[in-house]
Amino acid sequence: MIAHTPTLFACVALVATIMAFCLILVGQFNRGDSLLTIGFGLLAHALAYVGYTFYGHAPLWFTYGVANTLLAVALAFYGASVFRIVELPVAWWRAFAPAVLMAVLMASLIDTLEPRMLAATFVLMLQCALIIYWTLRYIPAQGRARLLLIIGSSISLIGLGMRVVAVFGGGAAEMRYDVSNLKQTISVSIGTFTAMMISLGLVLLSKERSESRFQYLALRDVLTGILNRRAILEQFATELERARRDGSSLAVAMVVIDHFKQINDVHGHLAGDEVIVHCAAHLSQRLRQSDSIGRYGGEEFLLLLPGTSPEGAVAVLDELRASLADTPAGYGASSIAARISIGVCCGVPGACDTTASLLARADAALYEAKGMGRNTLRLAPPLSGEGDASFSPV
Ligand code: GH3
Ligand code: MG
Repeated sequence: MIAHTPTLFACVALVATIMAFCLILVGQFNRGDSLLTIGFGLLAHALAYVGYTFYGHAPLWFTYGVANTLLAVALAFYGASVFRIVELPVAWWRAFAPAVLMAVLMASLIDTLEPRMLAATFVLMLQCALIIYWTLRYIPAQGRARLLLIIGSSISLIGLGMRVVAVFGGGAAEMRYDVSNLKQTISVSIGTFTAMMISLGLVLLSKERSESRFQYLALRDVLTGILNRRAILEQFATELERARRDGSSLAVAMVVIDHFKQINDVHGHLAGDEVIVHCAAHLSQRLRQSDSIGRYGGEEFLLLLPGTSPEGAVAVLDELRASLADTPAGYGASSIAARISIGVCCGVPGACDTTASLLARADAALYEAKGMGRNTLRLAPPLSGEGDASFSPV
C-alpha cells in the first residue's frame, strides 16, 4: 500500500507532538527521571516532521535544512537522555556535535540533491550508531528497555541505509519528501517506528532505573548502606536452603558492638552512629564476595559465610574482631575505640535446622561471649547430625 507521504509526515508530527507534550508536562514534576529531556527530543522530532510535511510548498532551507537539523537535535536529546537516566555526566558536546554538523552541511549543500541527501542520511546514521553504542556500553544487560533502544536504532539504521542505496542507485528524485511511492512509504514508516521505539525505550529505561533505585532502598540500611534486617534474613533463608541442598557448611555470626550504650552516653548519638558505620564498613571490607552482612538491629550485625568450615569461620571472624579493636572510629577530632563480641554457629544444616534455630544458636554463643567479658568470639555446638554436641569454646 502506498501512502501519501506528506500525510504520513503530518501523522507522525501529530503523534510525536502529543507524546512530547505529555512527557514535558509530567517531566516538570520530577526533573530527575529525564522525561523532560526525552520530551524535548520528541518535540524536535515532531517539528522536523512538520518541516518535511511542507516540502515543496515552502523554501528548501526550511523544509529540508532546518527539518533535518531538528531531527539531528531530536536524536541528540535521545542520546543525552541515555546518560541522564543512568546518572552519568551528560556528554553534551558528543551528543549535539552531529546536530551542529548537520546544520553546517545543510547550509552548504542545500542547493544540491544527492550530496545533501547523502550528507543528511550519514549524519543521522552516525547518531543512531552512537545511541546503539551508548546503550550497549552504559545500560545493564538485564533490562528490557535496552532491547527496545537497540532494536529501534537498528531499524532506523536499516531505513536510512535504504535511502543511501536508493540515492546511489540513481533514485534520489524518488526519495524526495513530496513524492509518494512504496519506497517512501516504507522509509517514512520505519522512521515512525523508530521514533516511537526509541522514545518508549527511554521512558521504560527511566522507569526501570527508578524501580531498581526503590528496590535498592527497600533492601538497604539507611545508616550503613549494608543489607537491612529484612534483606539479610531473606538472604539467610536462601543460603540455608543452598547449603542444605549442596551439603555444604554455612557459618552464621551474630556480631554486637560492646557497651554501645556507653559510647552513645559519652560521645553522643551522632558519634554512636559513626561507630556503627565504621564497624559495618570494617566488617564488609574484609569479607569475601560470596559472604553477606546485614544490620540485624541497633548495634547488631548478622554475617553469613557460605562454604566455610567452623575453623575457617573462627579464623576469619576472630581476625576481624582483633583488627577492629585496633582501628578506632574517627569522629571529628576524637577517635572512639569499638570492640565487638561474636557468636558463631557453623556446620552443614540438616532437615530440622531453620533460620530461627540457627539464629538462636548464634545468639546463645554471643551471650556466652558477653559473659566472658566481651571483645571475644564463641562457637556454638556443631549442628545436629554432625556428631559432637558439646559446646566448643574458642
Ligand atoms: P551490651 O554490651 O550488653 O549490649 O550493652 P549496651 O551498652 O550495648 O546496651 P544496650 O544493648 O542495652 O543498648 C544499645 C543502645 O544502642 C540502645 C539504643 O538507644 C542504641 N542504638 C540503637 N540503634 C542506634 C543507632 O542507630 N544509632 C545510635 N547512635 N544508637 C543506637
Ligand atoms: Mg548492646
